[in-house]
Amino acid sequence: MNISQENILALRGLVECGPRNVVVLSHTNPDGDAIGSSLAWAEALRAKGHSVTCIVPNRFPYYLEWMTGVEEMVIFKDDKQQRAAKAVREAELIFCLDFHSLQRLDAPLSELIATNTTAKRVLIDHHLNPPQEFDVMFSHPEASSTSYLIYKVVEALWGAESVTARQAEVLYVGMMTDTGNFSFSTLTPDLYQSLAVLCATGINIPQIYNNVYNSFTEGRARLFGYTINRKMRTLRKGTVAHMSLTEEEMRRFWFQQGDSEGFVNYPLTIKKMRMSAIFIEHKEFIRVSLRSRGEVDVNLFASRYFNGGGHKNAAGGKSFVSMAETIAHFERAVDEFAKEGLL
Ligand code: 5GP
Ligand code: MN
Repeated sequence: MNISQENILALRGLVECGPRNVVVLSHTNPDGDAIGSSLAWAEALRAKGHSVTCIVPNRFPYYLEWMTGVEEMVIFKDDKQQRAAKAVREAELIFCLDFHSLQRLDAPLSELIATNTTAKRVLIDHHLNPPQEFDVMFSHPEASSTSYLIYKVVEALWGAESVTARQAEVLYVGMMTDTGNFSFSTLTPDLYQSLAVLCATGINIPQIYNNVYNSFTEGRARLFGYTINRKMRTLRKGTVAHMSLTEEEMRRFWFQQGDSEGFVNYPLTIKKMRMSAIFIEHKEFIRVSLRSRGEVDVNLFASRYFNGGGHKNAAGGKSFVSMAETIAHFERAVDEFAKEGLL
């Protein structure tokens, strides 16, 4: 992956001129990549003397709570002391990591970032089609994770040897989770070279894997079984699958945020499956998650039918109608997509 030297030069100008107040921001429902990239970048900036506040719009899932430094992140939704608003007001630099548009932050945080600051805004991200609303943009849809991008930026600025074990651990989490534990089509030789550097810092890779993937609750295991067994429907001769979960069903299995993470991937373990979807009911909308194999472009599908986006093989959006209508809309969309030869 080629990081533009021009961008690195611009970034150097921003981060190598005395201590600054910095905000590092990531997306709603933060995942391993959002948290990993934020924590690693914050630490790299602190090592250069900057004062850094990491902000996420809402809580992260419980299986990421072990990550070093996560307790210092400000959770905007729970932030009674308004530390986030103060940090944004005082910020001279704002980094937006692992999301591509201010719209992806829910209001009122999105408005705060859009209006309440004169700070320079820097994007470091790997989602498709970013709007031009940043002063410096590291936009790399070809990158398998934002954590990998952060590694490349740190390497370009301060050398691979500057990466600490603490940074390596959280970057590894982001790289691992955004590639389905190194199984997606976004892998490159250069990623493995970065991983070799992280590994050489002495991080405990099996333990990181266990912390993330073998730390769920019993409720989650049972909910997973229920979802696959009772709620998975297949279409088009078993090549498309969808599942849905209502709030009532989730309550039945003592649902905690993050418990349904990864469910949408499971139908793709079926050999002929090309696309999978899950619809998860929230108070104000239904969250739609989409995954696909090969050339099936769920980024296009999400933007066309669910006002969303993401990556070619992993995307999402929202639906504001009932579950039954959402499913009917999905099934019609699948037919239309297939008629156009896109499935
Ligand atoms: P997930 O299914 O894991 O929530 O999301 C998969 C991918 O789709 C992520 O990269 C995420 O950023 C993107 N995505 C999910 N929901 C939305 C949405 O509502 N709008 C856009 N633009 N992207 C989304
Ligand atoms: Mn990511």
